[in-house]
Amino acid sequence: MDKFDVIVVGAGNGGLAAAANTAKAGLKTLLLEKHNIPGGCATSFRRGRFEFEPSLHELCSVGTAQRPDQVYKVFDDLGAKPKWCYETGHLFRAVVKGEDGYDVRLEAGIEAFCDSVEAAVPGSRKSVKAFVDLKPKIDAAIAYIYEMKGQPKGLTMLLKHSDFMRVAGHSVEEVMDALGMPKKAQNMINTYWGYLGVPTDELNCMHFLNMLYGYMVDGAAMPQHRSHELSLSLVDVIVKHGGQVWYNSEVTEFLYNDDGSVAGVVANGEKLYAREVISNVIPNNVFNMSPQSVIPEQNLKLANARDFGISVATIYLGLDCTAEELGMEDYTIFIMGHPDPRTQYNTRAEDGLYIVNCLNNVVPDSSPEGTCTLFFTMPIFGSDVPKDLKPEDYKKYKNEIAKKYIEDAEKTLGISIMPHIEEISVATPVTFARYLGTPEGTIYGYKLSGWDNLMARIAGEKADYAIPGLSFCGGHYIRGDGYSCAYIMGDTVAKKVIKRLKGDA
Ligand SMILES: Cc1cc2nc3c(=O)[nH]c(=O)nc-3n(C[C@H](O)[C@H](O)[C@H](O)COP(=O)(O)OP(=O)(O)OC[C@H]3O[C@@H](n4cnc5c(N)ncnc54)[C@H](O)[C@@H]3O)c2cc1C
Repeated sequence: MDKFDVIVVGAGNGGLAAAANTAKAGLKTLLLEKHNIPGGCATSFRRGRFEFEPSLHELCSVGTAQRPDQVYKVFDDLGAKPKWCYETGHLFRAVVKGEDGYDVRLEAGIEAFCDSVEAAVPGSRKSVKAFVDLKPKIDAAIAYIYEMKGQPKGLTMLLKHSDFMRVAGHSVEEVMDALGMPKKAQNMINTYWGYLGVPTDELNCMHFLNMLYGYMVDGAAMPQHRSHELSLSLVDVIVKHGGQVWYNSEVTEFLYNDDGSVAGVVANGEKLYAREVISNVIPNNVFNMSPQSVIPEQNLKLANARDFGISVATIYLGLDCTAEELGMEDYTIFIMGHPDPRTQYNTRAEDGLYIVNCLNNVVPDSSPEGTCTLFFTMPIFGSDVPKDLKPEDYKKYKNEIAKKYIEDAEKTLGISIMPHIEEISVATPVTFARYLGTPEGTIYGYKLSGWDNLMARIAGEKADYAIPGLSFCGGHYIRGDGYSCAYIMGDTVAKKVIKRLKGDA
């Protein structure tokens, strides 16, 4: 077997974007995927007459053909052309149960968003607008830092980018408090923590603002034909440019040269060699597939020190009625038992936070005529799954989860779901651990908080994993979780590899 220029391990979003780039650049590329289909989280599955979206609620930083944002550009530059649909009406509906609860819709668009929070919490508009207005200022500061290659001049940061300096090290809630935002308005906006898996008293402000602003201005994006369409569009690019994609090819070992650099991998018992290896697989697993002697101590310590991100339990429902007949007007509804994110995060049950999506409200023909689908997601940790759960009790465990949440949604939203269920499928962290191979079934790589927050990771990128010839990309890497981050990281990392191997990008 001839040596490859690049072997990419794992055909998730990061791996696909990386392999599409290296193949398009003319590098001899091999993408290895353990399953028989690409995508990792970004796929689809069928039950009866329904094709379900397994993971994507909303994709941010996409933009449009007229105003392309980062993800749009990644696909467009590669020549991949998925058909994007957008949720432009409102951002989400937030329902907090109980006597002090509320039921609000926060609108898309900067002014409409501020107006909708003001309508729900009179007197909050000024502080909400001040919060949102931080985003362009932060962007300008980051652009300057990049321009100066991380070495800003003199007092420029303090004098010209003072807002960045004020918020950079703070949590969302610290910044909102400093702006005098009423707690109720904070809680409403911070409902979105559910998409990042870290509560807002812990989550870095700039990270949260980046997501909020992206959804608010560009609208949330979804592919017309489930996220499988995104994955297939990137596979097409790889194949078109002569790259190879091998399915049913689980990598079981990473190979190293005597000088400690990566030499290749073993898949299906075959040794495969490359000049560079890009891993879409989380470092913990890569290190477990490598001789411990070659992994720098610092890298092992880093992997051990990081906390795993949150996982989820999900319920996929195919219903024999339309969204209208069901009484579901919204695409995204967050249902919460308590108003504040910290309590929701700590509770992690139907009294915590869960999300109900109805894809038909953005992609009307995403299920057969006269039907609709619902997608329930509840953030829970892999460690929340009972340790003593026996295989024979797993189905019961899943049924109990489904019953609890469906009944709660029926009661809270005043709709009748149970009699309409034609198909049902339930996933838990066990499903994600098994399918993706991630520790504890994390879908978000490592938890982005505390010393390991987004800003710290970007600033410390050079000190991150440093094995010659081995790069990482995907939800577990620097930019953290989510579709957009995984695509952007795959793109960025591949461009660095291309530069090293070809001397251009
Ligand atoms: C239920 C759910 C809802 C989500 N909702 C959203 C959302 O609304 N918006 C959003 O932006 N993000 C969301 N996410 C998160 C998002 O899906 C992930 O962050 C992102 O897809 C991770 O991409 P990745 O590149 O890290 O690859 P992964 O999806 O983790 O894929 C890794 C790939 O590597 C393969 N692999 C693993 N080990 C090996 C091996 N040894 N050899 C060969 N192949 C291997 C796996 O089979 C898989 O294909 C959600 C995730 C889930 C599960």
